[in-house]
Amino acid sequence: MSPQDSHDVIVIGAGASGLAAATALHAAGRDILVLEARDRVGGRLLSAPTAHPDRALDLGATWFWDGEERVRTLAARSGIATFDQHLAGDTMLQETTGVRRLTGNLIDAPSRRFAAGTQSIATALAAELPTGALRLDTPATAIRLGDQGGLDVVTPVGTLHAEHVILAVPPALALERIGFGDMLPPELVRLAQATPVWMGAVAKVVAHYPTAFWREDGLAGAALSRTGPLQEIHDMSGPGGEPAALFGFAHARTVRPGFEQAVTTQLARLFGPAAGSPVALYVQDWSGERWTAPSTMQHLADYSLFGHRLYQRPALDGRLHWASTETATEYAGHVEGALAAGERAARALLATSADANDTALDVTAPSR
Ligand SMILES: Cc1cc2nc3c(=O)[nH]c(=O)nc-3n(C[C@H](O)[C@H](O)[C@H](O)COP(=O)(O)OP(=O)(O)OC[C@H]3O[C@@H](n4cnc5c(N)ncnc54)[C@H](O)[C@@H]3O)c2cc1C
Repeated sequence: MSPQDSHDVIVIGAGASGLAAATALHAAGRDILVLEARDRVGGRLLSAPTAHPDRALDLGATWFWDGEERVRTLAARSGIATFDQHLAGDTMLQETTGVRRLTGNLIDAPSRRFAAGTQSIATALAAELPTGALRLDTPATAIRLGDQGGLDVVTPVGTLHAEHVILAVPPALALERIGFGDMLPPELVRLAQATPVWMGAVAKVVAHYPTAFWREDGLAGAALSRTGPLQEIHDMSGPGGEPAALFGFAHARTVRPGFEQAVTTQLARLFGPAAGSPVALYVQDWSGERWTAPSTMQHLADYSLFGHRLYQRPALDGRLHWASTETATEYAGHVEGALAAGERAARALLATSADANDTALDVTAPSR
């Protein structure tokens, strides 16, 4: 194995949690390599570009909220512009009996958004990694005990070695896509296989319009529906209404032939005829994403497993660390939870390393 294939730490997954862990460890002086299965960073942070160079439409995570200090600080230090979610206006309610207008915005809590899209925070973190430390299109397919200690990570293009591995991948997905042989304790295997993937069974639909016409009618772009296909709808326009967009969530199982037509019909019923003709309609079915959702996705429902104590301590003699948002003890499911989990994994790794020192760990601090 050549020296460039051997590292202090291999991080599997370049979503928010993996990038947070990797940048923190790089800042602490560790030699890290991040393996990412997709051809892009961000994982469940995915933003579609628009005609406006600095604005995007979020097909994954959208908001962050008060108290989510890691996200807020990261955006600030990376120079990423944020803005308030549009709240003003009335809510539409769709029931089997028809459509009603309710006074005020009854579904949106105050939150903030990223003008350039949420994926921009992953791109900013990735830019802090040293050259060559991120390999896209490189899934980890197996992890084995190394001949001389440490762990070997198998990929389609070769085997790599590290003293520590951080699994920054939803646990159930990791157990399905990565071969561990019989290395892991049965209790940990059962836990990981049973842990849901946050938003993994959801389709997010974004309808892009020339203008935010609903605002002129005094509507917030917010709707609740008991009929579907979209169950809740929100204004997803950028700052000042540009680009103009609505988005909604649907159960992924309802995404069948005719789904898009059903969505535009629903939007027109709720917001008027103009809503039936978006300039673009994005349907992002996360349940069909090979690198997000395991095949068991629809059967995983026990969210009390998020942040389980077994995820808080490394396995395999302190060499295998968990770091997806599902493993976070605070804000689990959110981007904030992903950053917290990455930070915790990095901290635990430094603490269990033979040469651990007092390096301060702060994922919101710039790496060198
Ligand atoms: C539709 C939707 C809406 C959401 N809305 C919000 C919101 O408004 N606010 C909020 O805070 N959160 C929201 N979330 C949740 C948020 O996106 C996640 O909490 C966060 O992005 C998770 O980051 P992560 O690093 O834990 O996991 P992921 O983003 O899933 O990253 C895991 C990475 O690992 C890679 N990977 C997988 N398997 C392998 C392998 N074998 N080898 C190498 N790489 C691999 C994946 O490609 C991926 O890049 C939403 C999520 C979705 C899907």
